[in-house]
Amino acid sequence: MSSPQKIRVAIIGSGIGGLTLAVGLSKLEVDDFLEIQVYESTSQLTQLGAGIMMWPRGWEIMQSLGLQDSLARKMSSDQELPSSEQLKPTFNIKRGDMKNGTHISVPVETNTFLAGGSVSFHRADVQEVLLEHVSPSIKMHLSHRLINFHETADGTIELEFKNGHKAACDLLIAADGINSVIRKIILARKNNWTEEEAAKFAQPLWTGSICYRNTIAADTIRSVAPNHRALTSPMMYIGKNRHLIAYPIMKGTLINTVPFISNYEKEGTYVEGPVMLDSSSDNLKDQFLGWDDEVEILLKHMSNPTRWTIQTVSPMSSYISGSGRVILLGDAAHGAPPHLGNGAGQAIEDVYILSHILAKGLRSGKLADISKAAKVYDEIRQPFGNFAAAATNKLGHLLDLDAPGFETIKDGEEVPKDAITQLGDSIQDLWSWTWKSAKPDLERALAML
Ligand SMILES: Cc1cc2nc3c(=O)[nH]c(=O)nc-3n(C[C@H](O)[C@H](O)[C@H](O)COP(=O)(O)OP(=O)(O)OC[C@H]3O[C@@H](n4cnc5c(N)ncnc54)[C@H](O)[C@@H]3O)c2cc1C
Repeated sequence: MSSPQKIRVAIIGSGIGGLTLAVGLSKLEVDDFLEIQVYESTSQLTQLGAGIMMWPRGWEIMQSLGLQDSLARKMSSDQELPSSEQLKPTFNIKRGDMKNGTHISVPVETNTFLAGGSVSFHRADVQEVLLEHVSPSIKMHLSHRLINFHETADGTIELEFKNGHKAACDLLIAADGINSVIRKIILARKNNWTEEEAAKFAQPLWTGSICYRNTIAADTIRSVAPNHRALTSPMMYIGKNRHLIAYPIMKGTLINTVPFISNYEKEGTYVEGPVMLDSSSDNLKDQFLGWDDEVEILLKHMSNPTRWTIQTVSPMSSYISGSGRVILLGDAAHGAPPHLGNGAGQAIEDVYILSHILAKGLRSGKLADISKAAKVYDEIRQPFGNFAAAATNKLGHLLDLDAPGFETIKDGEEVPKDAITQLGDSIQDLWSWTWKSAKPDLERALAML
C-alpha cells in the first residue's frame, strides 16, 4: 500500500527567519506529513559580521527549540541569561553628545533598567547553531532566487527560480527578507494592482536614518580605555539626530558598534541606490565631534564599516495571500528599523506560532487545512508584528531626541530633568513587551485550530 502524499512546503529564504522555521519544524516531528524544501538565493550561507541581541521573549522561544545550550556556549561566562522574572539592567542609556563631566547640570544619564536583560551574539554564531539543528530530511537549495510563482486551480503553487529551476509546493512560506518579492506578488494579486502599484506599496520606505555596522577587537579598546563601559555592558549614547550603540559579543572579544545618523525630513521617502555599501569611518568622526570620550574612542577604532540605509515596510493588513496558501514571515511581513533589537526576535516569534500551528493543523495531511492554519497565524501574528514594528519606529525618534521637551535642543545643550525622566519612561514603555512571554499567544492560536 502506498503511503499518503505529504504536504509540500517551500520556505523561501534562509536568513534567521527561514532557518529558525526549518529548526522549529525539525523539532516538531512533522516528517510523516510535511515535505520541506528551503530555497536560498545566495550561493553560501553567510551572516554579516555583526551582533544580534535577544530579549526574554525571543530567548524563551530559542529555549523551547532546545537551542539554549548550544547558544550558551557562544556566550562569555559573565553574560547572564535573560529571564522574564528577574529585573536586570540592559542598555545603559546616556546623553552622548556631551564631554564627560562638562555641560552637566541635570542628570543626563539614565541607567535604564529593562527588565529581564538580554543576550548578544555574533550573527554567524546564531546561524551556525541553527544549521546544526536542522533535520537532514529538510532539503536546502542554494543559488535559488525565486522570481515568480503561480497558484493553479487545484491549489498547487508553481515556483520559478532565476536559475531556470522550476518546483512545486502546496504551501509557500516567504522568509525572503525586507525586499520580499513574494510580498509584492501577493499585494498585486490580492488588490488587483498593476505591478507598478504593487511595487510602490511593497517597496520599503526609508526611515530617514542610516547606520554603520562594525565590530572592534575588545583588546584594542581595552588598551586605550580599560574602563570603557562597552567592554562589559550594552551602551547607548544618544544625541540630537544621532545615536550610537555598542555591546560586547563573541565572549567579550569583539565590540559590536553601530552609530546611527538621522534626517527625519527624509522619513517616508524611497531609498535611491544600494541599501548597503562598504564604507569608511573617516567622515563619521566629524559627525560626532565633541561627543563623549567613549564615543570618540569607538569611532576612532572602527575600520571599514558597512553603511546601511534603515528601512521599514508599510504596515501590511494581512500576512497571508487570498488563498491562504502563501504566508509571509519575518522582515518580509513586518521589516522595521532595528532600534528595539528585535527584528530577528519577531521573525523567531512568527516561527514559534507558525511551526506549532502547522504541526497541529496539518497533521491530518489534508490540503484543505492549509488555509485554516494560515488564517489562525494571520490573526495572531499580524496585529502583534505590526505593533512591534510601530514601537521600534517610534523608539528611533526617541533615541535621536526627536521627543517632547527636546524639540529645539542642540548637541550638548541641557534640558529640564522632567524631560529626561519622561524620555527614560517612554523608552522603557516601548521596550516592555520584549520581556513578556509569547506563550499565551501560542495557546490562543492552538485553541483556534
Ligand atoms: C543594524 C541592524 C541591527 C539589528 N540588530 C538586531 C538585533 O539586535 N536583534 C534582532 O532581533 N534583530 C536585529 N536586526 C533585525 C534583523 O537582522 C532582521 O529583522 C532579521 O534578520 C530578519 O530575518 P529574516 O529571516 O526575516 O530576513 P533576512 O535575514 O533578511 O533573510 C532573508 C533571506 O532570504 C534570502 N532571499 C531574499 N530574496 C530571496 C528570493 N527571491 N529567493 C530566495 N531567497 C531570497 C536572502 O538572501 C536572505 O538569506 C537588526 C537589523 C539591522 C539592520
